[in-house]
Amino acid sequence: MPVFIRTRDGLVREYPVGSPAAKDPPRSKCGDTGCGHLDCAIEYAKEMAALMRLILGVIVLVACSFIFIVLLVISYHWPEILDRAFWMNPETGMGFVLFVIIFSFILYYGYLLRQAKKSLEELLEFQERGTVNSLPARQVSGREVEKGQ
Ligand SMILES: [Zn+2]
Repeated sequence: MPVFIRTRDGLVREYPVGSPAAKDPPRSKCGDTGCGHLDCAIEYAKEMAALMRLILGVIVLVACSFIFIVLLVISYHWPEILDRAFWMNPETGMGFVLFVIIFSFILYYGYLLRQAKKSLEELLEFQERGTVNSLPARQVSGREVEKGQ
């Protein structure tokens, strides 16, 4: 069971406790399957943020080396490329398409990283001060959430 935290405005936030590396069912840090511990949710959020940072780093690295290679190829074929239209060039056309694909990956994982960092900040704030986004909050059980209390 994930960790549920309800802020005073009635909003219930859900934080998973399972490790991203573990298979179904997700296993928490403490060894339980879905324990509902705040500490386990914090560990999971940390892992997620680190994982997203790693993926993003690899993508950016790949993108940089790729752009370097494309620029190299383009500079090598520069006279012929100038003779043809932009889209008629395999170098520039393919380069552009791949650039768009890589860029969407960066946007996507950048978004996931932002989400993971936000979850982690909220959980740490709750642990430290008992608030989420400065709103008084308390942890509720899954049964309470189901009943809408
Ligand atoms: Zn736990």
